Formats: sequence, C-alpha cells, structure tokens
Amino acid sequence: MAKEYKRILIAGGTVVTARRTVQADVLVRGERIARVGRIPGGADEVVDARGLLVFPGFIDAHVHFSLPVAGTRSSDDFRTGPRAAAHGGITCFLDFTVGHPEVSLPEALERRLEEAVPSCIDYSFRAEMIGWTPERAEEIFRVAEMGVRAFKFYTAYSDSGRRTPLGHLRAAMEAIREVGGVAMVHCEADELVDPAGGPFPAARPAIAEEVAIAEVGILARETDCPTYVAHISSRAGLSVYLGARKMGAPLMGETCPHYLLLDDRVYMRPDGHLFSVTPPLRQPEDAEALWWALGKRLLTAVSTDHCPFTVSQKEIGRDDPSRLPSGLPGVELLPALLFSEGVAKGRISPRQFAYYLSEGPARAFGLWPRKGRLARGADADLVLWDPHARWTVEANELHMNADFSPYGGMELRGRPVAVMSRGEWVVRDGEFVGPEGHGRFVPWQR
Ligand SMILES: [Zn+2]
Repeated sequence: MAKEYKRILIAGGTVVTARRTVQADVLVRGERIARVGRIPGGADEVVDARGLLVFPGFIDAHVHFSLPVAGTRSSDDFRTGPRAAAHGGITCFLDFTVGHPEVSLPEALERRLEEAVPSCIDYSFRAEMIGWTPERAEEIFRVAEMGVRAFKFYTAYSDSGRRTPLGHLRAAMEAIREVGGVAMVHCEADELVDPAGGPFPAARPAIAEEVAIAEVGILARETDCPTYVAHISSRAGLSVYLGARKMGAPLMGETCPHYLLLDDRVYMRPDGHLFSVTPPLRQPEDAEALWWALGKRLLTAVSTDHCPFTVSQKEIGRDDPSRLPSGLPGVELLPALLFSEGVAKGRISPRQFAYYLSEGPARAFGLWPRKGRLARGADADLVLWDPHARWTVEANELHMNADFSPYGGMELRGRPVAVMSRGEWVVRDGEFVGPEGHGRFVPWQR
C-alpha cells in the first residue's frame, strides 16, 4: 500500500507538547510520526509551518454522541460529531457505551463500536455501568480484554436508574484496579439533588458535588483504584478533590469550558433554559478557583462533556425543568476556548494547554503512548495552530449539529489551520478534507 509510506514534512513550526516548546520539523511517514528535529527535505509533501504552533492532536476525553436522553437523543451522531471535533483540532475522543441493566458490558460495547464506524477520527469508549451488580464482575474482565478498561459511574440519577450505590462502586473499583483500569465518576450526592428542579443550581447545589467527591475519594483511596472525577464544577468540589489527593487517593480530575467561561447569571436570561447542563453552571468565584487549579496543573484534563440538543429539543423542558434535556455543545470549540481564555490571557502556559488536551487525557485513559505524544513512533495526529488568529464565534458557522452556541458572539484568539489524523489531513484552512470513516477504535494501551 503506497499510502503507508507517504512522507509528509511539516517544516519550520514551533512544536509544543506538555514537556517542551521547541523549533522543530516533524516528519510523518504513513500513519506515524517518523522524526522530530531538524530535517532536510526529501518528503512527498512539505508544509510550511513557520509562525504556527504544532501540537499533538487534541483529545476530548468526554463526549456524548447519539446519547439517548429523556426520550430524545443528543443531536450529534458519530458522523457529525467527529467532523465538528476535527474542525476544532480534536483528533481523538472518548465516548461511552450505553449501559442498561439487561445488557452485558461486552454487548453494549459491541453495539457502540458499530455505531462509531462513520467517525473520521480515532476514538475509545468507557463502559457505562448502569444497573451493574457485583455478581457481574467477570464482565469487567471480559470488556477489558476487548480493549476497554475505563468505566463510568453515576452517584446521582437514581430516578432514572443510573445511580451506582457506594457498595457496588467499591466492588467495581476493586475489579478495575485488578485490570489496571480507571473508574470515571459523575459526582453529585443523589440525596442532595431535587430532580423536580431539573438541571438548575438550586436543585443541584455545589454541596452535592462536594459530598460525592469526598465519598468517592475515600473509596478510591481504600481500593487504590485510579479514579477520574468528571466535570468538577465548583470551588467546594475542587477543594475536597485536592484534599483527597493529599490523603493518598489516586484521583484525577476534569473540568469543562462551560465551568471556566460561563456562570449562573445566564439562567436569568429569557433563553436561560438553553444553558441546562449537569452539574449546573456556578458562580464566577468557582470559575476562578478552577482556573487557579489549571494554572498549578492540579487537574488532568479539560474536556467538553459535549452533549448537544437543538433549541426545539430544549423547548420540551421549558416549562417543566424535570423534562429539560441537560447538556451543551462544545467539542468543536474546546481547543480555541481554552487557548483564548487560558493561554492568550496568561492563566495557563502553552505547555499546560498541551497537557490538558493531550498528554493528560491520553495517560488517564490508556491512549498513551500512541496518542497525546508528539514524538517518533506516536500516531501522526497533529494540529497546526495559528496563535494570532482572531475570530468571533457564530453558531451558524460551526459544524456541530446544534442551532445555538453558548459561546455565540465571543471573540477568540487562536484556531487550527490544519488537522491531521493518523497521517491523513482531515481539515485544511477551515475545510473538511478528510476521509469519512477514517477513525478507528483505539484499544487500551498497556
Ligand atoms: Zn457526561
């Protein structure tokens, strides 16, 4: 296969990874990075990257494509979602299986692998543990052999049957530690949530997050199971997360752009219901605390929890908050939002930016060293980034299947000019050029 050996030289750019910033050329051969350094010509294609930053492909560690929710489905599927992601510089995403008490973990994974075939970029899954009981421990080992060693739990949502009781969570964590995997937990203490209040702050207070992270932190410490706290939204939640780590709990933590850039004042707007998301948006002090933690590298990843619904889907719950689908579109904007508000405003360094969008999530979810790394032998997932570009977010110019953007009208600094997925260009100068269906499942790397 001639394509296997095509050599592409990305010349004269500034390579930025979590570890270093260096002037270097990057030689791609087939699907892999062949060399990084000073490289004389001799390639089939040479791309001039002077003035651009060259990052390892970004990873969105938390997306929900085609997620069945409240009688509807999140509006991006495995064709539109990955395409939109690629437009923003994402070259790999982590989604979830759709858990069900009567479906085994391997079966749920097989179904989701089939759904994901149209994806243009690489992906992996976490096994969602809904209705799982400790008698089903062997399913954890079976799904691990299929390449999935990350598992998703909810401490909330008992009303829809998604909550895992603490005893079951503890048993699962024992098995997950044995397979060398990771537990990802949505932390909100169910008894402190009022489901009738929907996804709004009064119904889902920060204290619910604080209590749940404390409990999960204790279980992680006791079982020694690496545990990833999803979407930390509050200063209180952050503080118990940091406390648990000090006590020896093997915790990793994530926050999302909406907790960094938006706050609960949007709920007062006439279109406030469009911002329904769980956990809800908090106060400006909470965002400040999360930025502080990012600047100290105390978190592991910034991911979107991308779960888009259209204006008409959100309309269903306008008068009844308990029926309001919860989730925001974001996958396409993740790198630009974090770069613009983080790097360009001096809150995080370019290397920290690379860490939260590549090495951090790659290591947390078994993608390392294939993903999240810009060095010889790694997958040729690359983003050529113009740090000086200035642009304004217009919902109708984005590629996500959503007809509004929570960030509409925001002026941003920096955007991708070219995006490569395993040696193939998928986006160049804002145009999708990649082959559909190019994406592959990435099994857990030992
Ligand atoms: Zn989620």
